[in-house]
This record gives sequence, C-alpha cells and structure tokens, in this order.
Amino acid sequence: MRLLFMGPPGAGKGTQASTVAERYSIPAVSTGDIFRANVGQGTPLGIEAKRYMDAGEYVPDEVTNLMVRDRIAEPDAAGGFLLDGYPRTLAQVEELDSMIAATGHRLDAVVALIVDEEALVQRLLLRAQTEGRADDTEEVIRRRMELYAEQTAPLLEVYRDHGILIEVDGMGEVDEVTARIAAALEKVAQS
Ligand code: ADP
Repeated sequence: MRLLFMGPPGAGKGTQASTVAERYSIPAVSTGDIFRANVGQGTPLGIEAKRYMDAGEYVPDEVTNLMVRDRIAEPDAAGGFLLDGYPRTLAQVEELDSMIAATGHRLDAVVALIVDEEALVQRLLLRAQTEGRADDTEEVIRRRMELYAEQTAPLLEVYRDHGILIEVDGMGEVDEVTARIAAALEKVAQS
C-alpha cells in the first residue's frame, strides 16, 4: 500500500499513521519527525529546517522533496509506505507523483482527517505543555493552521479528482478514529 495521511496540525495524523503503518507492515514516514531528528542531531538539513519550523513556516519544497525522495528509496519502503505530513504544497504533489510513477506504482489512497479547527488549537496547546515542542506556541500554531488552510487543504481537491480521497471523521477517541480509518482502508485493500 502507498498511502498519504492529510489533515491540519494537531489532527492526530502521527498517532494514526503509526498504527495503520504497523497494520500494513509499511514504514510510516513523517517529514516533521525526520526534520526534528535532524534538528536534534544538528545536521546541515536540521539547521536549515529549524528556521522555518520555529516560525511555523514550511521548509522549502526543494529541501523537503529531496529528503522524501531519499527516504522512500530506502529498501524498507520498496513494498509501500505511509507518508504523514507530505505533500503539503502543489509542487510537492507533483514531485511525489513523479517519484511514485518512476517506480511503476501509484498512490492507493489519501486519508484526510476531518476535524474541528478550534478544538485542534486547544489540543496543540495541551501538547505543548507535555511535549514542549518549540513550534507549539499559540502564535506559531495559528500560523501553521493558516498555512494549512491556504496551501495544503486545496490539495484534497486534487486527490478527490483522482478518485483516491478518503475523508474520515477525526474527532473522538483515538481508537474510534483508528477503527474508522481501518474500515475505510479495508475497502481499498479489497479493490
Ligand atoms: P504539524 O502537522 O503539527 O504542523 P509536523 O510535525 O508534521 O507538524 O511538521 C512540523 C514542521 O515541519 C512544519 O510546521 C514545517 O515547518 C515542517 N514540515 C513538515 N512537513 C513538511 C512539508 N511536507 N513541507 C514543508 N515543511 C514541512
């Protein structure tokens, strides 16, 4: 399976992505996690990405695209992968399409978590207290939401047009959301 998870910041993509990836025995690839790991290790990529992340801005497409290209070329992703947090721009959609087409495959489904934005801001502020992510201040959270609405939400229409968009209600308990996603993906796996 080649899957994407989309949804605004705080929608629970990461949590759901790891469960689903495990179920299909494919790696969950989170661009946010890869950037954070690089920031933590002080690599040149991390140093560049940090400037953008701390402000809630997107890391430039060229940087992000190269990183994803390398990651999905790893042997563990040969049979499929689940991307969480990528693509977020139209340029990234096009780049991903060509990366996948080059391997003779196609995307199977795009799972979009539909959530209430104000509830998300609250969820993120709570997470900021427990996890202490540098980009979880209220101002940066609002900026990330705004960018999502402007640049990333429109991508859902692209995937709807391709006929591979699956919208899932992302509100409620984690397990309930997992069950909804699993039910929707079963249909894809059978088709
Ligand atoms: P969230 O979904 O809560 O914004 P992520 O962990 O997915 O958090 O991403 C954190 C930050 O990493 C983003 O705000 C952005 O700066 C950067 N980032 C992650 N994925 C991408 C991407 N596909 N394109 C550009 N920047 C990205």
